[in-house]
Order: sequence, then C-alpha cells, then structure tokens
Amino acid sequence: MTVRTRFAPSPTGLLHIGGVRTALFSWAHARKNGGAFVLRIEDTDLERSTPESVKAIMDGMHWVGIDYDEGPFYQMQRMDRYREAVKQLLASGHAYPCYMSKEELDAMRAEQEALGLKAKYDRRWRPEEGKVLPEPPAGVQPVLRFRTPLDGVAAWDDLVKGRIEIGNIELDDLIIARPDGTPTYNFCVVVDDWDMGITQVIRGDDHVNNTPRQIHIFNALGAVVPQFAHLPMIHNDQGQKLSKRRDAVSVVDYDRAGYLPEALLNYLARLGWGHGDDECFTMAQFVEWFDLKDVSASPSRFDKEKLLWLNAQH
Ligand code: GLU
Repeated sequence: MTVRTRFAPSPTGLLHIGGVRTALFSWAHARKNGGAFVLRIEDTDLERSTPESVKAIMDGMHWVGIDYDEGPFYQMQRMDRYREAVKQLLASGHAYPCYMSKEELDAMRAEQEALGLKAKYDRRWRPEEGKVLPEPPAGVQPVLRFRTPLDGVAAWDDLVKGRIEIGNIELDDLIIARPDGTPTYNFCVVVDDWDMGITQVIRGDDHVNNTPRQIHIFNALGAVVPQFAHLPMIHNDQGQKLSKRRDAVSVVDYDRAGYLPEALLNYLARLGWGHGDDECFTMAQFVEWFDLKDVSASPSRFDKEKLLWLNAQH
C-alpha cells in the first residue's frame, strides 16, 4: 500500500516547533517510503482559527523547507462531506439523537460527582432493544451521539508507544454533531483521514485519548483504520512542557534569532530520534536513516546549547 501521511495543524497561533517536529517526522516517513505527504488545516474552531495563523503556518513550513504533495485542504470547505458521513452513521444505527438539555446535563453531572463518580453521559437517549425512549421535546434540536460499544476494548499497536488498550467502558457516547448540524472535531479528523487515504497518523501524544474514539468511528464508517504513531512532547530544560510564555516556541522566533532552517530541522530531527553518534546531517541523510521504530517513547528535552552548536556547523 502506498504510504500517505499528513500534518494537520489547527490555525490558532504561530507555527510551534513541536508542530514542526511532528510535520518533520510525518514528512520523513512519507519521503523515506516513496509516499505522499498531505497538509490539512483544521480550522473548524471558528473562535480561535484565524487567516493570519494559516499564513504563519504556511510561511513557517516554507521557511523550514518541508514541502507537501497535496493540500492544503481546509476542513471548513468539507462541511458537506462531514454532514453526509454523519447521515451514514445515523442510517446504520451507529449514531442517535440526544435531546438532553444543558440543564439536564449539568444536573446529571452534579449527581454523579456527588456520588464520587466521574461525570459521564448516562446514555438516556441511546436506543436499545426493549427500551422505551421519551417523546422528543418539541422545538429542540438534538445533538447526535456516537454509539460506543459497551464492552470490549479499543486497541492499537502504536508505532512509537507500543500496544495500547482502552476499555470501552471508559469511553462516552461522543457527540459527533452539534444541534445546528455542525460536526465535531474527532469526527472530522476521521472522515478526513479516511478520504485522504492516510496510512500512518503521526501526531503529538496529546492526542492519544482521542485515538480509541476515532478507531470506533473508522470502524463504524467501514473505513480502514490507519496505523498510529504518537510522538512524545518536547520539554524545556526544566523538564516542563514548552510554553509560549517561558520558551521560544514559534518558528519565527528562531528565524529572528538568526538560526538557519537546516540547523533547526537537524536539531528537531534529533529530538527523540537519533542515528548513532551522528549529530550533524543533511535532510537527505535524515530521510535515508529515519525509521519510526527508532523514535523514543519518552519526552525529549530542548537543549539550546546543542542547537547553537548545530547552527554553527551548518
Ligand atoms: N489539529 C490537531 C492539532 O493541531 C492535530 C490533529 C491530528 O493530528 O490528528 O493539535
């Protein structure tokens, strides 16, 4: 099967170096295997997505020199396709309308929390054989929920983290469409990865919790489930997650500070991946040597001294 990978940033700020590292590994996996690399802009969060950020991401990709074969595809331009896929799940019984109001949801949560339980939708609108559902309240537009299997597990062999299994009992009946019919994040991602024929989803491990939910949606749509590779976070020299307030995190910061794009890429390539003692290498060498199975499963530390040293070598 032809390898197809993607980079799917949300345009809510500048291009983050964690994002560049994700894009770099995804790009290298495609290049190494003679595959295709797709750029997808995940712009469905209307409050936080901006055209300036889309431009910053594209400029940043251009500056570091990571090229893509297809896209950019914009999720906001694919709404009709998502609505069609939502209909498919309704028709096959994998989704159902839920008319619970916000007040009812809050009351349910408060009750569960008072009992020391983790708040979770109680599936009151989920159709079951022999269960009588209440009459839908007049004039209320329902959300659509995904019918998550009640038992069993969602499992995958992560190409970086190894086998991961999550009991379905842990999962909620996820909302896949809002009352106005707009699809939610996890649902759009699955439809896109399916339509774009993505074979390996390579992304940050802040998305590990989404993966079991997405696997169920792939299966319900009758799509082939891709492989997943979740990359550990990059930490600063204090061992904390990189943050805009404390650290230089955007590509522009490095450009302004006089770093060469080749040096930054070389440095990011070595974060969580290495090739023996080779420190300084070209992107052609990186592509030749790269293998997802050599990516470390634990977070890596950003080391400014090393980056400075590499910058002097390039
Ligand atoms: N849009 C997500 C982000 O920027 C990435 C989603 C994914 O790779 O599946 O974090």
